[in-house]
Amino acid sequence: MNLNLRKHAILAKEGALLPLMEAFFTLQGEGRFAGHAMFFIRLYGCDVGCSWCDVKESWKVSADRFVPVEEIADKIPQGVERVVITGGEPLVWNLHPLIGFIHQRNIKVHLETSGIHAVPHNIDWVCLSPKRNKLPIQNAYRQVHELKVIIAETSDFDFARSQSLKVPAETFRYLQPEWNRSDQVISDVVAFIKRNPEWRLSLQTHKYLNIP
Ligand code: SF4
Repeated sequence: MNLNLRKHAILAKEGALLPLMEAFFTLQGEGRFAGHAMFFIRLYGCDVGCSWCDVKESWKVSADRFVPVEEIADKIPQGVERVVITGGEPLVWNLHPLIGFIHQRNIKVHLETSGIHAVPHNIDWVCLSPKRNKLPIQNAYRQVHELKVIIAETSDFDFARSQSLKVPAETFRYLQPEWNRSDQVISDVVAFIKRNPEWRLSLQTHKYLNIP
């Protein structure tokens, strides 16, 4: 590892630098906050490896993508009330400093995660989207506000039930058809929710609307 990379690695470990993939202001498309104006911070890096991942370009992290977290926070426009940190899998990084900078501006911080690493204590809203190929750590199940299970095939309903048993009773529960399999699974999703009304439907409305 050359000096530059080593310096990056240390600063990234401290959370002073994060690999920024993109940052944009749009409407949340999915889940409990669908339709709300939110600023998205998407970070590179993921060690989960879902076959149907729609952001595979986020997996590869290179040293030249690391940005000081103050610089990331400075991208948030005036008037934004909520920021979503997503990826990739953002929990591969130390997010505490970035969350702190955002909180200094009195902005709420949401996290979209598969829960495979520890969830920062200072997050305001956690959307846990567990993946069968790499399950969340036990602690992650306790800090969930919203559980979102992707349905790509029939066996995912059993997975959804098993994950539902692990989260607090008050957690909002969503089933979201996998975008490319939506036509095949939507009728089963609707039937499941009619039988199990504690679940709700989440659609990727931003994709229907063709917005970021
Ligand atoms: Fe893609 Fe998310 Fe799965 Fe990572 S956890 S592979 S970013 S869908």
